[in-house]
Amino acid sequence: MEQALYVYNTLTRKKEVFRPLHAPHVGMYVCGPTVYGDAHLGHARPAITFDIIFRFLQHIGYKVRYVRNITDVGHLEHDADEGEDKIAKKARLEQLEPMEVAQYYTNRFHEAMDALGCLPPSIEPHATGHIIEQQQLVQQILDNGFAYESNGSIYFDVEKYNKVHKYGILSGRSLENVKDASRDLAGVGEKHNQADFALWKAAQPEHIMRWPSPWSDGFPGWHCECTAMGRKYLGAHFDIHGGGMDLVFPHHECEIAQAVASQGDQMVTYWIHNNMITIEGQKMGKSLGNFITLPQFFSGDHPKLDRAYSPMTIRFFILQAHYRSTVDFSNDALQAAEKGLERLLDAWKALQSIQPTDGGSVGIDFVNTLKQQCYDAMYDDFNTPIVISHLFDATKTINSIVDKKETITPDALEALKEVFKLFAFDLLGLKAGAASVAAAGGMNDAREEAFGKVVDMLLEQRAKAKANKDWATSDMIRDNLAALGFEVKDTKDGFTWKLNK
Ligand SMILES: [Zn+2]
Repeated sequence: MEQALYVYNTLTRKKEVFRPLHAPHVGMYVCGPTVYGDAHLGHARPAITFDIIFRFLQHIGYKVRYVRNITDVGHLEHDADEGEDKIAKKARLEQLEPMEVAQYYTNRFHEAMDALGCLPPSIEPHATGHIIEQQQLVQQILDNGFAYESNGSIYFDVEKYNKVHKYGILSGRSLENVKDASRDLAGVGEKHNQADFALWKAAQPEHIMRWPSPWSDGFPGWHCECTAMGRKYLGAHFDIHGGGMDLVFPHHECEIAQAVASQGDQMVTYWIHNNMITIEGQKMGKSLGNFITLPQFFSGDHPKLDRAYSPMTIRFFILQAHYRSTVDFSNDALQAAEKGLERLLDAWKALQSIQPTDGGSVGIDFVNTLKQQCYDAMYDDFNTPIVISHLFDATKTINSIVDKKETITPDALEALKEVFKLFAFDLLGLKAGAASVAAAGGMNDAREEAFGKVVDMLLEQRAKAKANKDWATSDMIRDNLAALGFEVKDTKDGFTWKLNK
């Protein structure tokens, strides 16, 4: 922690030095998925962004409690307060228990996150498991006079709140903007004002997800869960709250209002938001036919996809852009990312068989500079594309050493292996040998290593055949391997190979 870490704070709209409230402890809350369908590319980005932050904060010595919720109730359709609960609706259509739907998609979400190399959070609280805490939050806001009851539902009184505090500080919207932007929902119905949002909703008779409360049998408003669970697990004041930029308004704005209305001040110091992913320049949406789930990316089973892409290709593609920049998906862009990742992983593999040279042309200074450049990028608001560009520079040097244009000293070689491993694998979370779909589709590192050894063994047989001038055997081994997609190169010291699949 000797170097200052800069993070961009959405609340202040500038990069700030990161100073946790209770160092070395850091509390980080990230909005998780609503589990009524498969995770899509838009879920991969926050998951990977905050995985990088989680990894780096731990690496520089912080003890991080990373909380990411599972929304299994209360997220109404179109983010509006009218309409059906998304999970209950899906359940009715499929004739399943709502919790069965939630569990099924939670499991699928975990599988996708695991494939993408995202570490599990420290706590993954479910909204349905925290109904009491959410009711307590609603009661505090009612007691403080910033909410009102209407037909058994409780609404947050945005206008009253705005007179004492300021509503809109995170998104930069004024109350007037908010009113204009809010959809006119059947003459506002139970609400006093368009901008008001539900804290508790009375359930209609047919509504199956419902809990008793002092106001009605019903369910909590969507924004309540993150305020209630963030406070429960990280305290009334904690360091980081994150999510996608699409959550800034209304979700996070409403969370700030709920926190201030209930406890008198804000809970969060740093609000961190990742930017969005567009698909061929368009926003992703079910109606546009460009809604691609993560399992579809991994299988290639979608009309927009030329073929399958490995989870590590998706991860690398996302990390090639800074988390606050937009990213545009296309098949070309993903295939370019796949090639780049392969180049990096090939260099890592080549690095393992390089022989050092005393007094070599690449010395320890080269590695120290590389390491500092990578650290500088990470300390500057987690700038992963800069880290990747430095790793590509190192790749060029590694390839020059392989081609005997350069040589490397023993201490530089060891240090280069360490720095490469630290940034590519430990901090960016890439996995060796995982660029191809085949490698990702169930072949783990140990199996892959065993397969690699079999190829080495065959090539040693071929070397022996060559030494015995048995050209027929030598060519046969090379041609058979080539037919399977192995590219064999003869070098001064023997051979190298790679699988072009
Ligand atoms: Zn949230």
